[in-house]
Amino acid sequence: MRQQRSYSTEAIVLKHSDLGEADRILTLFTPRKGKYHAIAKGARRPISKKAGHLELLCHSQLQMGVGRNLDIITQAQGIESFRSMREELWHMTCAFYLAELVDRFIEDDAEHFNVYTLLLQALHALEADAQEIQQQRAEGNLQADHERDRTLLLMRYFEIYLLSYIGYEPLFRTCAHCNSELQPEENGFTPSLGGALCPKCAHLWGQRLSMNALKVLRLLQRTDWERVPRFHLDNRLHAEIENAMHGLLRFHLERDLKSWSFLEMLR
Ligand SMILES: [Zn+2]
Repeated sequence: MRQQRSYSTEAIVLKHSDLGEADRILTLFTPRKGKYHAIAKGARRPISKKAGHLELLCHSQLQMGVGRNLDIITQAQGIESFRSMREELWHMTCAFYLAELVDRFIEDDAEHFNVYTLLLQALHALEADAQEIQQQRAEGNLQADHERDRTLLLMRYFEIYLLSYIGYEPLFRTCAHCNSELQPEENGFTPSLGGALCPKCAHLWGQRLSMNALKVLRLLQRTDWERVPRFHLDNRLHAEIENAMHGLLRFHLERDLKSWSFLEMLR
């Protein structure tokens, strides 16, 4: 059977590392072939035409040659470079975090079209938010305390959907132990059981989960990002939600994510 020698794919660049003098190995995330590694020859040479479209988190159209081990990127054309997002340290750090999540949770060479779409949607949301902030800053009416509300919620939204798409949907409607419907009251949360727990199962609670925290988590779980209303999250409430979600991620990965400490530093 004749093998296909080249093909075209769109991709988001998740990671890169240097190879030899001038080349790079990229971790690509693609709609149909999932996550895999490819070689970008000469990508570190200043005259490389491809290089600009192969930066981290670029969304590009690639022409690929099939290699013996790794495929080789022969041409790259930018679809979206997320320019405003790149100019905002906070937004860029959020985006790196989402890329780290995908890289950690998604195995190589398996299609994850819904996760691909989710990542693209989140990058567009970060870009739109960065643009809005830059506009407000230029007009002198940027509200500092509300500046991060949207991006913090976006990260929690992304975590919930990512876990759901790979088969670890967090339980926020029924008790993760006895399956009874959760009531609007203080409940508990235990990452190793996969979600929230009712008061009758309090002996299994890992931490408390306030009524408001559960409401926000449920809202994110059942709403498309575009329809999530804008609201201000006070620090304590957000910390509670973040703790619950990080607990789940840590349980599945059995480790912390590198970006957590960067995000913490910037806040
Ligand atoms: Zn229960």
